[in-house]
Amino acid sequence: MKRRKPVLSPADRARALSTVRDMAEVESKPKPSPEFTTLAGYKDRVALREMSEIYGVGDPSFRVLEGRGGAVSRCDGRDILNFSSYDYLGLNADPRPAQAAKDAIDRYGVSASASRLVSGQRPVHGELEQAIAQHYDVEDALTFVSGHATNISVISTLAQKDDLIIYDACIHNSASMGAELSTASRRSFAHNDLDALEALLEENAGQYRATLVVVEGHYSMDGDIPDLQGLLALKARFGFWLMVDEAHGLGCIGATGKGIREVHGVAGRDVDIWMGTLSKTLGSTGGYVAGNAALIDILKYEAPGFVYSVGLSPPLAAAAACSLSIMAAEPERVENLHRLGKFFLECAASHGLDTGTSVGSSIIPVITGGAAIALALSVKLLERDINVLPIAFPGVPLNAARLRFFLTSEHTEAQISHALEETASILAELRNGPLANLN
Ligand code: PMP
Repeated sequence: MKRRKPVLSPADRARALSTVRDMAEVESKPKPSPEFTTLAGYKDRVALREMSEIYGVGDPSFRVLEGRGGAVSRCDGRDILNFSSYDYLGLNADPRPAQAAKDAIDRYGVSASASRLVSGQRPVHGELEQAIAQHYDVEDALTFVSGHATNISVISTLAQKDDLIIYDACIHNSASMGAELSTASRRSFAHNDLDALEALLEENAGQYRATLVVVEGHYSMDGDIPDLQGLLALKARFGFWLMVDEAHGLGCIGATGKGIREVHGVAGRDVDIWMGTLSKTLGSTGGYVAGNAALIDILKYEAPGFVYSVGLSPPLAAAAACSLSIMAAEPERVENLHRLGKFFLECAASHGLDTGTSVGSSIIPVITGGAAIALALSVKLLERDINVLPIAFPGVPLNAARLRFFLTSEHTEAQISHALEETASILAELRNGPLANLN
């Protein structure tokens, strides 16, 4: 066979080979990840800050309070009237839980230092969990280092691939994130609309191993409550697991602060999973779940936020246990909160302010509509020494921006009247100004 004469000279061939090698190298070179400054999240922040500057609205986030977050606090060296803390029964300002925390530090140190499952626990953990179980009149309870982590961990541990999670459209981010992280199918129903829930249950009946329905006992954006009796009637028909997040229910809902079950005269065991946080009424930090012994047994060994996380800090556990006992012993705190909540609703109505569907306890929104007005209102109120923070989309639906007032049993009617008078007067000015046309 005749040999073909090479087309390229040796020098040309070497050059061509080197070009091909260069190209291959370029293609296989790892692409650097983008700078953080080019990410959408950062660009949104910058754009919002620029907008705030242009309209002179200011930014109410990350205000520094130089004192406790009680009814009165300090900001920029001034005493301010504070409506931005979860300290619903004034227990974060009470010396007794603080002393219990100090005693626990002296005895156990600040940290639990490791996961309880592998490295053991302190007596305060068991004491707090027993007290929580007793509060709900159920068999057992378990605490976690954060309320947010509690929902994420519990929901994603219990609901699996062949399961369905259905939650109220206003459910807290921690519960919807837990659902997202689980491998279960997910659906939501319109806020507090049990007909919509029933329709979903009918549509999906018999298709899943288990169905978990998640609601809140006192909704954090609207201050309204679910129809627990109605939910239990649906549970009896469809046999789902019912989980109630009582983060804002504990201490705020029910004549003695026992939560939504007290309003509806329901036994603790009728709800499968009670969830709550230590960071609100109990003036501490952490989360909990209460229910039957089998549920807690599963979570103790399988919930990642418990198994792979440090145990609740002993002083936080001690403070929460002390607050829970004070709450039970001093029901006048809850009565005061309810009286003030009712007063707030009446006073707001007399100024023509829209408080939505709030039942008038610790969470009462004043709905402004546009986010720019809510922001400006918050900034202008602080200029008059009143601290109350705005919430806008995506925390609440578009055009439902609001100031969210958190009440504590330690506020006075005079403080509430004063704050609402100022709110109504600034809001009227803003609604006549350039921000009225902005969302
Ligand atoms: N559930 C609800 C309804 C909440 O509002 C919150 C926080 N505000 C959490 C859970 C998370 O609790 P924590 O802030 O204690 O982590």
